[in-house]
Amino acid sequence: MSSERRRQPVMLVISSPSGAGKTSLSRRLVADHADLFLSISATTRAARPGEAGGREYHFVTKETFETMAQAGDFLEWAEVHEHAYGTPRAPVVEAMRAGRDVIFDIDWQGAREVAAAAPGDVVRVFILPPSMADLSRRLHSRAQDAEAVIRRRLGRAKGEIAKWSDYDYVIVNEDFDLAYAELAHVYHAERLRRVRNPWLTPFVKALEAEPI
Ligand code: 5GP
Repeated sequence: MSSERRRQPVMLVISSPSGAGKTSLSRRLVADHADLFLSISATTRAARPGEAGGREYHFVTKETFETMAQAGDFLEWAEVHEHAYGTPRAPVVEAMRAGRDVIFDIDWQGAREVAAAAPGDVVRVFILPPSMADLSRRLHSRAQDAEAVIRRRLGRAKGEIAKWSDYDYVIVNEDFDLAYAELAHVYHAERLRRVRNPWLTPFVKALEAEPI
């Protein structure tokens, strides 16, 4: 982006019940957009097989988490599924200062807090599964969690789904490629919002002043 056309960053918040595909969707959006920064949360939950510290999450102890929370290091934090999850503030501030957009894969509690802190910048997207049966299938096929954990997550999914009307956009993830295309459309349209592009005012003035 040229410095004359610098726009206000988009803070794209994505939520869904576990297993509805928000992580795959948000990772692909990041892979396709070099100027989109993925916020990596800190959590007190243990890493699942295949997860790496600093990639999926910063895996921290309860003590470290509490110290960070007390120091104000989190933009928001919440208890989800008996564990604490928080969004480290500094990387987000730094990315936005550099003119990058930021994507957050956080629950409805975090989405509310971030939206309250930056109402003009935040765009909230909720991902729904096509059915509860499909959600159950996806959680089982992921095979990362014990059966009891999966049952607890499914039990909570309905409570999370109930928060859908907090969100600006809602995408049903029945077909991954279609859901991804819809998410990318939302992101691209939000970048073009007039209020995010203050450079338009001098640009249009210059257009008006141009002799024809
Ligand atoms: P999981 O343990 O399955 O990776 O994530 C559980 C839930 O915690 C998901 O709904 C996820 O979006 C949410 N989550 C992850 N990081 C954060 C965070 O930093 N803040 C909040 N509020 N929720 C988070």
